[in-house]
Amino acid sequence: MLTIGSHLSSSKGFLHMGKEAVSIGANTFQFFTRNPRGSKAKEIDEKDVAEFRRFAEENGIRVILAHAPYTLNACSKDVHTREFALQTMEDDLRRMEYVPGNYYNFHPGSHTGQGAEEGIRQIAELLNAILKPEQTTTVLLETMAGKGTEVGRSFEELREILDRVELSDHMGVCLDTCHVYDAGYDIVGNLEGILKEFDRVIGLDRLKAVHINDSKNPFASHKDRHEKIGEGSLGLETFAKIVNHSALRELPFYLETPNDLEGYAKEIQILRNV
Ligand code: FE
Ligand code: FE
Ligand code: ZN
Repeated sequence: MLTIGSHLSSSKGFLHMGKEAVSIGANTFQFFTRNPRGSKAKEIDEKDVAEFRRFAEENGIRVILAHAPYTLNACSKDVHTREFALQTMEDDLRRMEYVPGNYYNFHPGSHTGQGAEEGIRQIAELLNAILKPEQTTTVLLETMAGKGTEVGRSFEELREILDRVELSDHMGVCLDTCHVYDAGYDIVGNLEGILKEFDRVIGLDRLKAVHINDSKNPFASHKDRHEKIGEGSLGLETFAKIVNHSALRELPFYLETPNDLEGYAKEIQILRNV
Protein backbone atom coordinates (compact mmCIF):
# COMPACT_ATOMS: atom_id res chain seq x y z
CA MET A 1 0.00 0.00 0.00
CA LEU A 2 1.24 3.44 -0.97
CA THR A 3 2.48 5.60 1.91
CA ILE A 4 1.08 9.01 1.11
CA GLY A 5 0.00 12.17 2.87
CA SER A 6 0.05 15.92 2.57
CA HIS A 7 1.47 18.90 4.32
CA LEU A 8 -0.67 19.73 7.39
CA SER A 9 -0.76 22.60 9.87
CA SER A 10 0.96 21.76 13.14
CA SER A 11 -0.74 24.51 15.15
CA LYS A 12 -3.06 22.09 16.98
CA GLY A 13 -0.49 19.44 17.79
CA PHE A 14 0.42 15.92 16.72
CA LEU A 15 -2.80 14.08 17.59
CA HIS A 16 -4.81 16.61 15.57
CA MET A 17 -2.53 16.14 12.55
CA GLY A 18 -2.83 12.36 12.87
CA LYS A 19 -6.63 12.56 12.86
CA GLU A 20 -6.63 15.01 9.98
CA ALA A 21 -4.36 12.69 7.98
CA VAL A 22 -6.67 9.71 8.52
CA SER A 23 -9.70 11.85 7.58
CA ILE A 24 -8.23 12.52 4.10
CA GLY A 25 -7.18 8.94 3.42
CA ALA A 26 -3.50 9.56 4.27
CA ASN A 27 -1.19 7.27 6.21
CA THR A 28 1.56 9.83 6.78
CA PHE A 29 1.92 13.62 6.79
CA GLN A 30 4.39 16.49 6.70
CA PHE A 31 4.36 19.52 9.02
CA PHE A 32 6.44 22.60 9.82
CA THR A 33 8.33 22.32 13.09
CA ARG A 34 7.37 25.92 13.82
CA ASN A 35 6.01 28.92 12.01
CA PRO A 36 7.63 28.73 8.57
CA ARG A 37 9.17 32.15 9.09
CA GLY A 38 11.21 30.59 11.87
CA SER A 39 9.84 32.12 15.07
CA LYS A 40 9.93 30.43 18.45
CA ALA A 41 8.46 26.93 18.62
CA LYS A 42 5.93 25.76 21.17
CA GLU A 43 7.39 23.37 23.72
CA ILE A 44 6.44 19.73 23.11
CA ASP A 45 3.23 18.64 24.86
CA GLU A 46 4.15 15.18 26.11
CA LYS A 47 0.53 14.12 26.55
CA ASP A 48 -0.27 15.08 22.95
CA VAL A 49 2.78 13.16 21.73
CA ALA A 50 1.85 10.03 23.74
CA GLU A 51 -1.72 10.15 22.41
CA PHE A 52 -0.45 10.68 18.87
CA ARG A 53 1.94 7.73 19.05
CA ARG A 54 -0.87 5.45 20.18
CA PHE A 55 -3.19 6.81 17.47
CA ALA A 56 -0.48 6.43 14.79
CA GLU A 57 0.10 2.81 15.81
CA GLU A 58 -3.62 1.97 15.74
CA ASN A 59 -4.23 3.72 12.42
CA GLY A 60 -1.17 2.60 10.49
CA ILE A 61 0.41 6.05 10.22
CA ARG A 62 3.94 5.50 9.02
CA VAL A 63 7.06 7.66 9.11
CA ILE A 64 6.24 11.37 9.34
CA LEU A 65 8.25 14.22 7.89
CA ALA A 66 9.06 17.43 9.70
CA HIS A 67 10.01 20.40 7.51
CA ALA A 68 12.37 23.09 8.81
CA PRO A 69 11.30 26.71 8.33
CA TYR A 70 12.10 27.55 4.71
CA THR A 71 13.56 30.92 5.68
CA LEU A 72 16.55 29.36 7.46
CA ASN A 73 19.78 29.70 5.55
CA ALA A 74 22.61 27.42 6.59
CA CYS A 75 24.96 28.94 4.00
CA SER A 76 24.31 32.66 4.23
CA LYS A 77 27.33 34.92 3.92
CA ASP A 78 26.09 36.48 7.16
CA VAL A 79 27.37 34.66 10.24
CA HIS A 80 24.33 35.66 12.37
CA THR A 81 21.95 34.14 9.80
CA ARG A 82 23.97 30.90 9.84
CA GLU A 83 24.04 30.92 13.64
CA PHE A 84 20.24 31.35 13.73
CA ALA A 85 19.82 28.40 11.35
CA LEU A 86 22.10 26.29 13.53
CA GLN A 87 20.25 27.09 16.77
CA THR A 88 16.83 26.58 15.20
CA MET A 89 17.72 23.25 13.61
CA GLU A 90 19.46 22.02 16.75
CA ASP A 91 16.33 22.83 18.77
CA ASP A 92 14.10 21.17 16.14
CA LEU A 93 16.19 17.99 16.30
CA ARG A 94 15.99 17.97 20.10
CA ARG A 95 12.18 18.19 19.88
CA MET A 96 11.99 15.56 17.10
CA GLU A 97 13.29 12.95 19.55
CA TYR A 98 9.88 13.06 21.27
CA VAL A 99 8.59 11.34 18.11
CA PRO A 100 11.56 9.05 17.48
CA GLY A 101 12.55 7.47 14.20
CA ASN A 102 11.10 10.04 11.82
CA TYR A 103 12.49 12.44 9.21
CA TYR A 104 13.52 16.11 9.30
CA ASN A 105 13.80 17.83 5.92
CA PHE A 106 15.49 21.15 5.19
CA HIS A 107 16.42 23.33 2.23
CA PRO A 108 20.23 23.29 2.07
CA GLY A 109 20.20 27.07 1.62
CA SER A 110 21.26 29.87 -0.71
CA HIS A 111 24.85 31.00 -0.82
CA THR A 112 24.61 34.75 -0.94
CA GLY A 113 27.62 35.50 -3.10
CA GLN A 114 30.44 33.42 -1.66
CA GLY A 115 29.83 30.61 -4.20
CA ALA A 116 28.37 27.10 -4.08
CA GLU A 117 31.61 25.46 -2.93
CA GLU A 118 31.85 27.65 0.16
CA GLY A 119 28.08 27.25 0.71
CA ILE A 120 28.43 23.47 0.65
CA ARG A 121 31.25 23.67 3.18
CA GLN A 122 29.12 25.88 5.48
CA ILE A 123 26.09 23.56 5.29
CA ALA A 124 28.24 20.55 6.20
CA GLU A 125 29.86 22.51 9.02
CA LEU A 126 26.43 23.29 10.47
CA LEU A 127 25.35 19.65 10.21
CA ASN A 128 28.56 18.49 11.86
CA ALA A 129 27.83 20.84 14.76
CA ILE A 130 24.28 19.61 15.42
CA LEU A 131 24.07 15.90 14.51
CA LYS A 132 24.40 13.55 17.46
CA PRO A 133 25.43 9.87 17.34
CA GLU A 134 22.43 8.84 19.47
CA GLN A 135 19.71 10.67 17.52
CA THR A 136 16.95 8.57 15.91
CA THR A 137 15.88 11.25 13.43
CA THR A 138 17.19 11.13 9.87
CA VAL A 139 17.94 14.56 8.41
CA LEU A 140 17.04 14.98 4.74
CA LEU A 141 18.47 17.40 2.21
CA GLU A 142 15.78 18.55 -0.22
CA THR A 143 16.55 18.67 -3.96
CA MET A 144 16.14 22.30 -5.00
CA ALA A 145 14.91 24.04 -8.19
CA GLY A 146 18.01 26.23 -8.49
CA LYS A 147 16.32 29.58 -7.95
CA GLY A 148 18.85 32.40 -7.47
CA THR A 149 21.87 31.08 -5.57
CA GLU A 150 20.18 27.97 -4.15
CA VAL A 151 22.53 25.14 -3.21
CA GLY A 152 21.28 21.62 -3.89
CA ARG A 153 20.24 22.29 -7.48
CA SER A 154 22.14 19.23 -8.69
CA PHE A 155 22.64 15.71 -7.39
CA GLU A 156 26.39 16.46 -7.35
CA GLU A 157 25.94 19.35 -4.90
CA LEU A 158 23.89 17.18 -2.55
CA ARG A 159 26.50 14.47 -2.80
CA GLU A 160 29.23 16.94 -1.87
CA ILE A 161 27.33 17.94 1.28
CA LEU A 162 26.78 14.30 2.27
CA ASP A 163 30.47 13.52 1.72
CA ARG A 164 31.45 16.18 4.23
CA VAL A 165 29.07 15.12 7.02
CA GLU A 166 30.76 12.99 9.65
CA LEU A 167 27.62 11.25 10.98
CA SER A 168 26.42 10.63 7.48
CA ASP A 169 24.35 7.59 8.60
CA HIS A 170 21.86 10.13 9.96
CA MET A 171 21.49 11.80 6.55
CA GLY A 172 19.32 11.19 3.51
CA VAL A 173 17.67 12.99 0.59
CA CYS A 174 14.09 14.08 -0.11
CA LEU A 175 13.35 14.34 -3.82
CA ASP A 176 10.88 17.08 -4.76
CA THR A 177 9.36 16.29 -8.17
CA CYS A 178 8.58 19.94 -8.98
CA HIS A 179 12.03 21.08 -7.94
CA VAL A 180 14.05 18.47 -9.88
CA TYR A 181 12.02 19.10 -13.05
CA ASP A 182 12.49 22.85 -12.64
CA ALA A 183 16.19 22.20 -12.01
CA GLY A 184 16.55 20.45 -15.39
CA TYR A 185 16.11 16.74 -14.59
CA ASP A 186 13.61 15.44 -17.13
CA ILE A 187 11.50 13.07 -15.04
CA VAL A 188 8.69 13.44 -17.59
CA GLY A 189 10.61 12.19 -20.62
CA ASN A 190 13.28 10.11 -18.91
CA LEU A 191 12.37 9.02 -15.37
CA GLU A 192 14.43 5.87 -15.69
CA GLY A 193 17.54 7.77 -16.74
CA ILE A 194 17.18 10.36 -13.97
CA LEU A 195 16.81 7.67 -11.30
CA LYS A 196 19.92 5.94 -12.67
CA GLU A 197 21.72 9.25 -12.47
CA PHE A 198 20.55 9.74 -8.88
CA ASP A 199 21.79 6.27 -8.06
CA ARG A 200 25.16 6.85 -9.70
CA VAL A 201 25.78 10.24 -8.04
CA ILE A 202 24.11 9.91 -4.63
CA GLY A 203 22.91 6.30 -4.31
CA LEU A 204 19.23 5.34 -4.21
CA ASP A 205 19.73 3.98 -0.67
CA ARG A 206 19.97 7.67 0.40
CA LEU A 207 16.56 8.50 -1.03
CA LYS A 208 14.13 8.46 1.92
CA ALA A 209 11.12 10.53 0.85
CA VAL A 210 9.44 12.19 -2.12
CA HIS A 211 7.67 15.56 -2.26
CA ILE A 212 5.07 14.91 -4.91
CA ASN A 213 4.15 18.15 -6.66
CA ASP A 214 3.29 19.19 -10.17
CA SER A 215 4.96 22.37 -11.51
CA LYS A 216 3.40 25.58 -12.84
CA ASN A 217 6.47 26.18 -14.98
CA PRO A 218 8.11 24.46 -17.95
CA PHE A 219 11.14 22.18 -17.81
CA ALA A 220 14.39 23.67 -16.43
CA SER A 221 12.72 26.97 -15.51
CA HIS A 222 14.47 27.21 -12.10
CA LYS A 223 11.27 28.72 -10.68
CA ASP A 224 9.78 26.49 -7.91
CA ARG A 225 6.03 27.08 -8.17
CA HIS A 226 4.01 23.99 -7.20
CA GLU A 227 0.86 23.01 -9.07
CA LYS A 228 -1.95 20.54 -8.35
CA ILE A 229 -1.29 16.94 -9.40
CA GLY A 230 -2.01 16.50 -13.13
CA GLU A 231 -2.57 20.23 -13.77
CA GLY A 232 1.00 21.29 -14.43
CA SER A 233 3.92 20.53 -16.69
CA LEU A 234 4.60 17.08 -15.16
CA GLY A 235 1.13 15.61 -15.74
CA LEU A 236 -0.71 12.66 -14.25
CA GLU A 237 1.02 10.06 -16.43
CA THR A 238 4.37 11.01 -14.92
CA PHE A 239 2.99 10.66 -11.39
CA ALA A 240 1.54 7.26 -12.25
CA LYS A 241 5.05 6.15 -13.26
CA ILE A 242 6.59 7.69 -10.14
CA VAL A 243 4.32 6.11 -7.51
CA ASN A 244 4.53 2.71 -9.22
CA HIS A 245 8.28 2.70 -9.92
CA SER A 246 10.07 -0.19 -8.20
CA ALA A 247 12.76 2.16 -6.83
CA LEU A 248 10.20 4.60 -5.38
CA ARG A 249 6.95 2.87 -4.47
CA GLU A 250 8.04 1.86 -0.95
CA LEU A 251 8.99 5.45 -0.07
CA PRO A 252 6.67 7.91 1.68
CA PHE A 253 5.13 10.54 -0.63
CA TYR A 254 4.13 14.00 0.62
CA LEU A 255 1.87 16.40 -1.30
CA GLU A 256 2.79 20.09 -1.14
CA THR A 257 0.32 21.13 -3.83
CA PRO A 258 -1.83 24.27 -3.55
CA ASN A 259 -4.85 22.65 -1.90
CA ASP A 260 -7.16 22.62 1.09
CA LEU A 261 -7.86 19.35 2.92
CA GLU A 262 -10.57 18.33 0.48
CA GLY A 263 -8.21 18.88 -2.46
CA TYR A 264 -5.55 16.77 -0.77
CA ALA A 265 -8.07 13.98 -0.14
CA LYS A 266 -8.87 13.94 -3.88
CA GLU A 267 -5.21 13.86 -4.91
CA ILE A 268 -4.46 11.04 -2.47
CA GLN A 269 -7.35 9.07 -3.96
CA ILE A 270 -6.12 9.77 -7.51
CA LEU A 271 -2.58 8.64 -6.68
CA ARG A 272 -3.78 5.51 -4.90
CA ASN A 273 -5.77 4.57 -8.00
CA VAL A 274 -3.24 5.14 -10.77
FE1 FE B 1 10.64 22.24 0.96
FE1 FE C 1 9.31 20.36 -1.34
ZN1 ZN D 1 9.01 24.08 -3.61
